[in-house]
Amino acid sequence: MQRDILIIGCGIFGAAIAWTMGRRGLGHRVLIVDRQPPASGATSRAAGLVTQVRSDPTLQSLAGETLAAMDVLKGHFGEDVGCHHAGALHVGPLTQQEALTSMLAVCTAAGIPGQWQDKAQVLAQSPWLNPEAFDIAAFFPGECFVDPYLLASAYLRGARQMGARLQLDTRVAHITHHAGAVTGVALEDGTVLPARKVVNAAGAWSNLLSFELGLPLPMAPVRSQYWITERSPEFSPGDPIVFMTDIRAYARPEVGALLFGIRENAPAVAAPRELPENLQGFVFDAADPDGWGNLAEAFEPLSRYFPAIERIGIAHYITGPSNYTPDGQPIVGACAAIEGLLVATGCNGSGITYSAGVGRLITELICGETPFVDASRLDPSRALQVDPFSPAFLQSCAHARATKSTG
Ligand SMILES: Cc1cc2nc3c(=O)[nH]c(=O)nc-3n(C[C@H](O)[C@H](O)[C@H](O)COP(=O)(O)OP(=O)(O)OC[C@H]3O[C@@H](n4cnc5c(N)ncnc54)[C@H](O)[C@@H]3O)c2cc1C
Repeated sequence: MQRDILIIGCGIFGAAIAWTMGRRGLGHRVLIVDRQPPASGATSRAAGLVTQVRSDPTLQSLAGETLAAMDVLKGHFGEDVGCHHAGALHVGPLTQQEALTSMLAVCTAAGIPGQWQDKAQVLAQSPWLNPEAFDIAAFFPGECFVDPYLLASAYLRGARQMGARLQLDTRVAHITHHAGAVTGVALEDGTVLPARKVVNAAGAWSNLLSFELGLPLPMAPVRSQYWITERSPEFSPGDPIVFMTDIRAYARPEVGALLFGIRENAPAVAAPRELPENLQGFVFDAADPDGWGNLAEAFEPLSRYFPAIERIGIAHYITGPSNYTPDGQPIVGACAAIEGLLVATGCNGSGITYSAGVGRLITELICGETPFVDASRLDPSRALQVDPFSPAFLQSCAHARATKSTG
């Protein structure tokens, strides 16, 4: 049978969709195309946090699917995705008590375990934290982090084993349609690949394909970044993830060092049309190529929680585009204006976390089933009036990252 379901992009979303289609017995109908090696876009740059502790039930469910998929990948397919079941601590001052109490209540109601911890318990798990910096702490034992490249590769290997085909060095120039229905994609060399369903999972480049169809996606590639310290004995591989809630920073262990990220006050944002195909060496902000300006801004609050940052050096800096939307919701679903066209992007810094949930949602929509979550707020057509390339819109997406909470 002809492969009539075509997925553009083999990042974590494309791979997870192909995997979920395969689990439904539809793998032999799936073709994934990418112009770059699999997972070489935003995916391989992610910090790998997979966090279900969220106040939004839809996003919580998407994350839950990824946790379940990792169990299947390991149990049935023998795939190790580098998962560290470390749990996550949320720490903060008393001003955060109401928010954290409410998060605990939401999680308890959803069956996600979590409990308050005292300072002695916190310090036993994360000795690098300064006990003077926080008053309250809650621990969520189900949270974890993975190697995002391994997770994407595992989805892809599973999908291929279940019949999906991957075609690399393939540049999609346009999505084609006729009489209100998608017909396939046209490649840059003029070849046409026919398909009855096309999923635009082209990450930070998705808007370049959607916009010309009159379907602007309300998102922009905002700089996401983190730093990894030098190795030091105070960090252990089994340490939990720590969210410093009031300063919008997080940290997790990384091979004997500490990986930490911050949410900047004014994140850099890229003009989508200027984003190169290969992100190697791409600089978001020529005036601050390595994010030192952002780190300097965050240094005082960060060193309150993590005093050792003043003596332990920084060994690595990682950055990449994360697609933020002004409303903080991903963009996942069918495009009403063109039958057979679906979109999966706009991850708001959580694409690894949502991956299998997004895969399931897209699969259910392709199969004409009622989605397992309320996907109305993820609708790709929710802001057709926006100009996603205008400076004002790009800034609204940067603002969404700056103000994003940890939950
Ligand atoms: C520094 C950083 C830290 C992050 N940390 C986390 C985290 O801790 N937890 C978490 O859940 N998320 C995190 N994220 C977000 C996560 O990385 C993204 O949400 C996720 O990788 C997006 O996956 P994707 O498949 O949409 O995009 P990508 O991985 O970028 O894949 C898109 C693919 O589409 C291909 N493509 C594009 N256009 C075309 C075309 N025209 N033709 C053919 N192929 C095309 C590209 O080559 C690429 O391979 C982080 C992101 C960054 C940058």
